Amino acid sequence: MQQLHHFIHGSEVAGQSGRFSPVYNASTGEQISELPLAGVDEVRACIASSQKAVPEWAATSPSNRARVMFRFKELLEKNMDELSEIVSIEHGKVKSDAAGSITRGLEVVEFSCGIPQMLKGEYSGNVAGGIDLYSIRQPLGVVAGITPFNFPAMVPMWMFPVAIACGNCFILKPSEKDPSLPLRLGELMLEAGAPPGVLNVLNGDKLAVDTLIEEPEVKAISFVGSTPIANYVYERAAHFGKRVQAMGGAKNHMIVMPDADMELVVDALMGAGYGSAGERCMAVSVAVPVGQDTADELVARLKPRIEALKIGPSLDPESEMGPLVSAEHLAKVRGYVDLGVEEGADLVVDGRDFHAQGYEDGFFLGGCLFDNVTDDMRIYKEEIFGPVLSVVRAPDFDEALRLPSEHEFGNGVAIFTRDGDAARAFTDQVEVGMVGVNVPIPVPMAFYSFGGWKRSAFGDSNQHGPDGVHFYTRTKTVTSRWPTGIRAGAEFAMPTPGSS
Ligand code: NAD
Repeated sequence: MQQLHHFIHGSEVAGQSGRFSPVYNASTGEQISELPLAGVDEVRACIASSQKAVPEWAATSPSNRARVMFRFKELLEKNMDELSEIVSIEHGKVKSDAAGSITRGLEVVEFSCGIPQMLKGEYSGNVAGGIDLYSIRQPLGVVAGITPFNFPAMVPMWMFPVAIACGNCFILKPSEKDPSLPLRLGELMLEAGAPPGVLNVLNGDKLAVDTLIEEPEVKAISFVGSTPIANYVYERAAHFGKRVQAMGGAKNHMIVMPDADMELVVDALMGAGYGSAGERCMAVSVAVPVGQDTADELVARLKPRIEALKIGPSLDPESEMGPLVSAEHLAKVRGYVDLGVEEGADLVVDGRDFHAQGYEDGFFLGGCLFDNVTDDMRIYKEEIFGPVLSVVRAPDFDEALRLPSEHEFGNGVAIFTRDGDAARAFTDQVEVGMVGVNVPIPVPMAFYSFGGWKRSAFGDSNQHGPDGVHFYTRTKTVTSRWPTGIRAGAEFAMPTPGSS
């Protein structure tokens, strides 16, 4: 079995702690490698490597840093097939979906190529007699990112290209479940010309995360994962005086107004509910048809489509949906389906007995559809993170607006309608961070920032885009005078422009 490693200071580094985590092929269920989990000393050694790289990298001109990003972008494109396959095998998402997720990460790399433009400061000449005032944005030094299993390429690339183009050195602590792609990203950044230590990939679990948070040399923590851990990381990192952004879980609703184009709606729900087996933080997991007729038609149209889903091994080009990421996650999602039945929801499509022929040990679950779900049920309140769609029937627009607005999570939401007034009122009033109008998965482009509201995101700044640049830099403001014969004498009152 393959032994994985860390990627530190430009080299593969074997694990020292003696602790390992298994990595699986999600479609076959077979363990394919063993991942070392870093101990405290290994985390400290990794931080030391990053610190060593900081002075030279921070002093590298923004244009030269951007050139590394240009080369990295080209390498991602050149190796897209291999990279998609790695994601597909370990995560279980079908290869075309894996390629799409890498492309969304690549778009952040493209954004990072233009970051010199965003590092420009502000300048005000002669704000007082002979005094000029200007601000510059400087990197923080060593920063770290902790990422989830569901996007092993895209989420790390929300973070490190921005941080590195801003002049920081980045430690990536990826998910233990699919670490091979993050390790490959470390190699490709080196090949693109990033000096050793600028991007280190450190594998580990809670111990590594806690150590990164506690060590004073790490100046900022970016986290994406489940809400309980995001909350923990946010509070703990803030306690240690770190800059921190922590994205959490989601329960994304899609409102279906009676006037919506039903064909468009059903296609959208199939992709957004069952694509990537529902393991997307922007997956639609709740459909809210408005009015009984809309609901009846929606459920009648969805049922045969879900039953006809082509589920199979992730590398089979015929598969529309692959397996879940692990046996443990499969058991959790199945448990939620059992719970929904106990809670009294109508299980219209039951995928629990699905088996992929020839792949009996893979982590497969068939698509599931619940109707008549109510807002007091746990299957509505909690994130399931699998191919399970719940239909919550709403009598009117006000109830459809209330449901996502009052939900604990506030990542994404969508409304499908032909009525501009309804869409406008909804986008204006809904208490959710990212909204789609006839767009089921409203993930913003890289030059905007990504982030939800409420318990889907902790901290003030979102991922990538302008927020990313702000997160990974700090402002220095300089008040400068070059005396030209001005001699005002000592001043003991607070200086004002008039007094200088
Ligand atoms: P997770 O919270 O289990 O793990 C995320 C990271 O935290 C991993 O690197 C893991 O090693 C680390 N971790 C796990 N337990 C820890 C602990 N006790 N202390 C410190 N670190 C710990 O999440 P996951 O299961 O890998 O990913 C799925 C979750 O991520 C879902 O909830 C999904 O909604 C969320 N997600 C959110 C976004 C977003 O932008 N809001 C994007 C992608 C995924």
